[in-house]
Amino acid sequence: MADHKYVYFFGAGKAEGAADMKNLLGGKGANIAEMTNIGIPVPSGFTITTEVCTYFYDHGRTYPAELKAQVAEALAKVEAVMGAKFGDPTNPLLVSVRSGARVSMPGMMDTVLNVGLNDETVKGVIAKTGNERFAYDAYRRFVNMYSDVVLGVKAAHEKEEDPFEVILEKKKHARGVKLDTELSAQDLKELVAEFKAMVNERLGKPFPEAPMDQLWGGISAVFESWNIPRAKSYRQIHGFPEDWGTAVNVQSMVFGNMGDDSATGVAFTRDPSTGENYFYGEYLTNAQGEDVVAGIRTPQPINRTKGAPEGMRTLDEEMPELYKQLAGIRETLEKHYRDMQDIEFTIQQGRLWMLQTRNGKRTPAAAVKIAVDMVGEGLIDKQTAIKRVEPEQINHLLHPMLDPKAKRVKIAAGLPASPGAAVGQVVFSASDAEAWAADGKKVILVRVETSPDDIRGMNVAEGILTSRGGMTSHAAVVARGMGTPCVAGCSEIAVDYANEQFTAGGVVVKQGDWISLDGSKGEVYQGQVAKVEPKLTGDFAAFMDWADEIRTLGVRTNADTPHDASVARNFGAEGIGLCRTEHMFFEGERIKAVREMILSDDIETRQKALAKLLPMQREDFVGIFRAMDGLPVTIRTLDPPLHEFLPHVDNDKDIDGLAADMGLSAAQIKAKVESLAEMNPMLGTRGCRLGLSFPEITEMQARAIFEAACQVAKEGVKVIPEVMIPLVGHVNELKLQKAIVLRVAEEVMAAAGVKVDYLVGTMIELPRAALTADQIAQEAQFFSFGTNDLTQTTFGLSRDDTGKMLAEYVASGILPKDPFVSIDEEGVGQLVRIGVEKGRSVNAKLKVGICGEHGGDPASVDFCHRVGMNYVSCSPYRVPIARLAAAQAALRNN
Ligand code: ADP
Ligand code: MG
Ligand code: MG
Repeated sequence: MADHKYVYFFGAGKAEGAADMKNLLGGKGANIAEMTNIGIPVPSGFTITTEVCTYFYDHGRTYPAELKAQVAEALAKVEAVMGAKFGDPTNPLLVSVRSGARVSMPGMMDTVLNVGLNDETVKGVIAKTGNERFAYDAYRRFVNMYSDVVLGVKAAHEKEEDPFEVILEKKKHARGVKLDTELSAQDLKELVAEFKAMVNERLGKPFPEAPMDQLWGGISAVFESWNIPRAKSYRQIHGFPEDWGTAVNVQSMVFGNMGDDSATGVAFTRDPSTGENYFYGEYLTNAQGEDVVAGIRTPQPINRTKGAPEGMRTLDEEMPELYKQLAGIRETLEKHYRDMQDIEFTIQQGRLWMLQTRNGKRTPAAAVKIAVDMVGEGLIDKQTAIKRVEPEQINHLLHPMLDPKAKRVKIAAGLPASPGAAVGQVVFSASDAEAWAADGKKVILVRVETSPDDIRGMNVAEGILTSRGGMTSHAAVVARGMGTPCVAGCSEIAVDYANEQFTAGGVVVKQGDWISLDGSKGEVYQGQVAKVEPKLTGDFAAFMDWADEIRTLGVRTNADTPHDASVARNFGAEGIGLCRTEHMFFEGERIKAVREMILSDDIETRQKALAKLLPMQREDFVGIFRAMDGLPVTIRTLDPPLHEFLPHVDNDKDIDGLAADMGLSAAQIKAKVESLAEMNPMLGTRGCRLGLSFPEITEMQARAIFEAACQVAKEGVKVIPEVMIPLVGHVNELKLQKAIVLRVAEEVMAAAGVKVDYLVGTMIELPRAALTADQIAQEAQFFSFGTNDLTQTTFGLSRDDTGKMLAEYVASGILPKDPFVSIDEEGVGQLVRIGVEKGRSVNAKLKVGICGEHGGDPASVDFCHRVGMNYVSCSPYRVPIARLAAAQAALRNN
């Protein structure tokens, strides 16, 4: 490949590269080329492509033969444009060497400035500028920076002082001055020599004097930095391939430190934290790039739009003409890129130069505002706006947050299990949580882990903190469902129930002490940290409306209470995709009746207990139907293994109470509880198997559903019940359960004299159900994929027992991601696909949805779109996320 192009020139209004060549030129190089081409002033230079990086590693750290000549040729062009010569003692060109991969990557080599300086060329700089002090200042900075970044001369460990600082401090001390700026040209000249001597001593070889050696040393250092451990692990974490490589940019230096008519700064074309459309930025007069970042001097704002500190001047005041030019470039860039830009600029003696532009990072709120504003300004269309915001980002807009400005003391960190902020007093049991909340207190429930028994306490808690369990532990799943902030698996805290306290590091937190949780970060703070309510502005609403126009997938919610239902409806849910009835069984007096029902030996006693439950269940459904007026409500019949409702055999208080209520002995109760215990309850008597063993349970639930439906229908509520039978593996199971539902529905409606449209369908959550979906579809009027259980049964993995193992699997790359968080498309997804296809082969109009946790995961939503589902269903607080993900899926796949 003798004539393969490895070097791309830019300068004097023309570049060989362009913005769409990021893969070849890296992000920085491609955008520098683009700016050059659209007439923005950029110091001339050239980019060495990422292919050279790949070649470098494929060929034992050597370069392609033609590279040297191509670099020389490009350098000659730069020299012509700049009217200076690299290495020339009378009229020297100085350059920077800048790394630049496709995406910016921590760990990559830092930029080296002022390359090309030596004892000869520095004289040329003095002659050209007439400023000896400036020249030696640049020189000593160069020797320092080059030695550090390229030659690796730096403090060996944290406790060692930077060797250049040591020499510098000594010099200042000897001269009796405090600031670098008080050193004379002669002092700086001496520093150069002292720096070099130290480098020579440390490395056993002299500092490179020849400008060409300096340049190639810099280029090689950039390529070498592609493979340092920090950059490698960053790529691993983000899944960026090794063969991307980095590019190297070599660019003529411009100086922001040549006097008061010079400056350097960084800016955003809009406010990156609020998204407001004004020019936001900071600069420093008489400074070089590194001074802004180093934070030694306080930078000045470029304008007064948001005020400026007392006595501080702004760029539009100090250099109005240049500010105007910069503001013009801001407009050009936004029109050109049609996105908010993050820019770097330098002013050298009254002349403006642009050094970088890229799409600016922004907060979630700013992302939405900028997208909406840009549609209004005609810069982008709605589709583009929808693509600009990550679905996960808007999660942050839906929950109250800790005030980012508030002071805080972090005491522990765990998993960010459920987003949002919580501030409250610590309690250690669900019953305390309830009692304290009843007194009007704000509580945070702290447990080792939670169980279904804790539901009511969890419900009233501001936040939940557990020391054990993963992202899909009971606490995490339930908290997300409730929209309650939760930090789970916080192994840094030790919970001591007996003494009603927990310890975190050295801190002891007792019952009643205040703590604050950040569920989005997974962090725990001591005391009360101030909160701010999220603002669901008009922009956000408009944005979500566009998502709704674009998406074809419906979005429902998983909700068990009227409250959750109305929260979800406000977030745009178009129905309930899963209403679990078992949560209703825990409340208040109900659990007693439930236990009596379970423990009764004969059908009469059981029916008596069920009769007590009937009106309570009916009331639940009445509330939910009213909240969802006009929208479908999918209600699942009882699903969990019965033992979940029973007290522990060693809980004497509960056992004795139950015995007294039922007129039995404690021993009898214990025997019964023990007889119901199962080795593998998740694969035991649960789901439709319960309803088959105890048809009267299904019958009671169906009656409650249809009595409620008829009652609200009479009030004028449009009610659309969909009864869903769980854990069906064989069509006959569904057939039998369905017969009960149909019979009861007809009976109830006849008695009430009301006709309600309803459906009976099933969950597809066992592999056998998916594989025989054509048979099941002959009985089912809809399918809802229960992908939590389907994932458990496909992998043969218990979600509740394998959280830690799965985290290790993901960390070590055995699995690409946690299959309970994001659907495993290759395995579980295949069963879903088969299920949909087979189901629709029998009933082309079969309504199909998903109600596992995956329904709120953007990648899984995309899959649901592709597989042709009608809707996804997720927890209330994820409804907007699913709406956006569904819109993006439509744009991506159609
Ligand atoms: P990063 O990728 O860390 O942003 P850059 O390559 O943008 O690194 O360099 C950091 C800073 O160095 C720039 O913001 C700019 O201030 C300064 N710089 C880089 N190249 C030049 C140059 N040719 N002339 C003047 N300053 C430069
Ligand atoms: Mg930069
Ligand atoms: Mg299930």
